[in-house]
Amino acid sequence: MTGDFGANTPDYDLIVIGAGPVGENVADYAVKRGLRVAIVESELVGGECSYWACMPSKALLRSGHALRAVERLAGARQAVSGALDAPAVLARRTAFASDWKDDGQVEWLESAGIDLLRGRGRLTGRGAIEVDGRGYTAAAVAIATGSLPVLPDIPGLADAAPWGTREATSATAVPPRLAVVGGGVPGTELATAWASLGSQVTLVARGALLDREEPFAGELVAESLRALGVDVRLGVRPLRVDRDTTGVVTTELSDGTTVLADEILVATGRRPATLDLGVESVGLVPGEWLSVDDTLLVDGTDWLYAVGDVNGRALLTHQGKCQARAAGEAIAARLTGTGLRADAWGEHVATADHAAVPHVVFTDPEVARVGLTEADARAKGLDVRAVEYDLGWVAGAKLHADGYSGRAKLVVDESRSVVVGATFVGQDVAELLHSATVAIVGEVPIARLWHAVPAYPTISEIWLRLLETYGRP
Ligand SMILES: Cc1cc2nc3c(=O)[nH]c(=O)nc-3n(C[C@H](O)[C@H](O)[C@H](O)COP(=O)(O)OP(=O)(O)OC[C@H]3O[C@@H](n4cnc5c(N)ncnc54)[C@H](O)[C@@H]3O)c2cc1C
Repeated sequence: MTGDFGANTPDYDLIVIGAGPVGENVADYAVKRGLRVAIVESELVGGECSYWACMPSKALLRSGHALRAVERLAGARQAVSGALDAPAVLARRTAFASDWKDDGQVEWLESAGIDLLRGRGRLTGRGAIEVDGRGYTAAAVAIATGSLPVLPDIPGLADAAPWGTREATSATAVPPRLAVVGGGVPGTELATAWASLGSQVTLVARGALLDREEPFAGELVAESLRALGVDVRLGVRPLRVDRDTTGVVTTELSDGTTVLADEILVATGRRPATLDLGVESVGLVPGEWLSVDDTLLVDGTDWLYAVGDVNGRALLTHQGKCQARAAGEAIAARLTGTGLRADAWGEHVATADHAAVPHVVFTDPEVARVGLTEADARAKGLDVRAVEYDLGWVAGAKLHADGYSGRAKLVVDESRSVVVGATFVGQDVAELLHSATVAIVGEVPIARLWHAVPAYPTISEIWLRLLETYGRP
């Protein structure tokens, strides 16, 4: 495959637009296969994840998790007194966000042999892009421009200078009162983080919390947020928002109540970063998610790829990076004619997007899921049986915390006798998730899983309890 360049050799084999974690990985995997690669970035190399999402949000959460873990242990709790040192937590967060400087990542690009084109990239036609007015050509282009927060159309909201996730992950002081709109992953995580740092948080959600998870996940998280002092208001929505001259934000809710706060964080969803990208020059619709096949090739093209958040498959760094590894290799295979391995689970495809997307919500308790919820599996028409078990009855979990509270669930496809979904909710369950990912990706039969013996006394013993609840096949 080559671009339509006549006798001219294109400037690059591959140009990647967007140097977030995903774009960096596409470029890295392609350059390792010998391609000449450039990457375009209009803000910071490293993208949302490094500076305003995964890293700073998890750094804001971690100290509170550690403190509460100690407070749940007799003997240890006596050794701590007082609350978190908010300035120290914020300073640690700032270090994890590299003080919002990308020198380290730029150095890495140089060492990897990837050219950095600073500026805003736009497609101008097949294999042609412009970066702040400078034109470049490439045999293949990969769009990795990510996603942006959506601001809902609520009267007064835009004028109230609301926080988005960027402001909520980079704030340098704790607001005395914070209203959070949105009960999904960023809303619950950031409510947890700022409540831990001493803010009086009110969380407003139009339905249950984390309503894409197994129902017990949102229930346990709501319970723990309330225990943390968060005012959780479910089944309501904001009707109007006003910030007065003293800075106080008043939010009127659909149940007739109001919330007073010093800041309001809106975390109600994201849209693809495909506006102002010139996608119309190649027949695509600006503002839409870019639909791709499993090699990340944009539908209807043979040279344009869309990788990471921008294709809407899974808005997660690790899943986007999995796509990036497949795309970087697939682009190289196509351009060098070395043979595409695009069968399911092959080297050049992101099959896991369909079967085994793991994610962790870093609330307290953590919510860790891979694969399908029971409801999703049934909606897909699978013949499933699900089993649940209380993590508080597992010896290893009891050792982690006095009065350990948590729950786990396996969703089993009865026709194949394999796990298709697993959810763990509890303290310190995040590291348990990969065991379930391996079981799903490996399609390990239930009968064989009985031979995967969890060490005693660890939280992993939940596997045995779930299998016992399910029974021998
Ligand atoms: C608060 C929060 C917490 C999160 N926590 C986690 C987590 O714990 N774990 C997890 O897996 N995921 C998490 N995510 C999701 C994760 O941040 C995204 O999935 C990830 O950043 C997507 O990577 P990306 O490379 O596709 O896009 P991005 O990281 O958004 O990078 C896109 C890059 O493209 C650049 N760009 C855009 N348009 C142009 C253009 N026209 N020209 C040049 N450059 C351009 C942008 O400046 C940006 O640097 C979180 C998200 C949020 C909001």
